[in-house]
Amino acid sequence: MIVIMKHGATSAQIANVIARVEQSGCQADVSEGDEHTVIGVIGDGRPLDREQIERMTGVERTVSVARPFKRASRDFHPQSTVVPINGVQIGGEQVIVMAGPCAVESEEQLMESARLVKEAGAHVLRGGAFKPRTSPYSFQGMGEKGLKLLAQARKETGLPVVTEVMDPQTVPLVTTYANILQIGARNMQNYALLHAVGEAQRPVLLKRGMMSTIEELLMAAEYILSHGNNRVILCERGIRTFETYTRNTLDISAVPMLKQLTHLPVVVDPSHGTGKWELVEPMARAAVAAGADGLMIEVHPHPEEALSDGAQSLKPERFAALMQSLRPIAEAVGRTL
Ligand code: PEP
Ligand code: MN
Repeated sequence: MIVIMKHGATSAQIANVIARVEQSGCQADVSEGDEHTVIGVIGDGRPLDREQIERMTGVERTVSVARPFKRASRDFHPQSTVVPINGVQIGGEQVIVMAGPCAVESEEQLMESARLVKEAGAHVLRGGAFKPRTSPYSFQGMGEKGLKLLAQARKETGLPVVTEVMDPQTVPLVTTYANILQIGARNMQNYALLHAVGEAQRPVLLKRGMMSTIEELLMAAEYILSHGNNRVILCERGIRTFETYTRNTLDISAVPMLKQLTHLPVVVDPSHGTGKWELVEPMARAAVAAGADGLMIEVHPHPEEALSDGAQSLKPERFAALMQSLRPIAEAVGRTL
């Protein structure tokens, strides 16, 4: 249920409603809008006397929310959430581009990548230090050494860093180096990990599981939000279908659907979404046209030598050309880049 306060309701009236909600064993999630303050009520199934709440001074009306996700829903937070990261705003007017290699491979490779994506206009540097690989015999990432290189690249370029964390025990380590904690598709329903990043109180990029519905993605976000960490960025990165020409099927329709259902920012990863560098550019453009708040793009100085995901990595010059081609599309949908 949500409680919509009257326009101009006083802070004392709002506090009274919150107290009443909490007395009944529920939690109150307050969202202050331009017109109305909205109080989301999250309960454990016990009924709350709705009529009693409606009789309280300052209350306009109550509305029941049938959806299973609460804190993530736009009903609870009509205004879009903006996640600030070192001077950039994810979920604001500007389309934010996160770019860099799939994995941190060496100092030379990362510094070159960081410098080139920065020059091309990227806002955030990506790079995996802990890699979730299908085969245990594939390159697993550089671990803490990779995190240190990411911190060095941030120092040299000023770009904030997003990197994956794969298990709850490693959250404190990754948090000391990263600006944004990435939850990979394979871990979207790793609930212990979702609790741990919720507690870390750091921005989180939550990738959609390759076999997950939009509702499951939002329920995963709800785990993080339930810790009071509201800095969650959702990422559409393609889902498994019967199609085999592409690595995944990039669900562009998830973008406007999510924007309708949730206040959280939505970014699109056309690299993992397609698995083919030739498809990254058109799908990146489609994502911006569909209203994405940002993109995550794999870029490698020498894709043919990449230790992971070379086939879907853009060469730096192609990435620079993509950035140029995105600008008019961003402008056409009322955004900047
Ligand atoms: C990644 O971004 O490095 C990654 C492994 O992506 P995903 O979790 O979407 O497969
Ligand atoms: Mn990758």
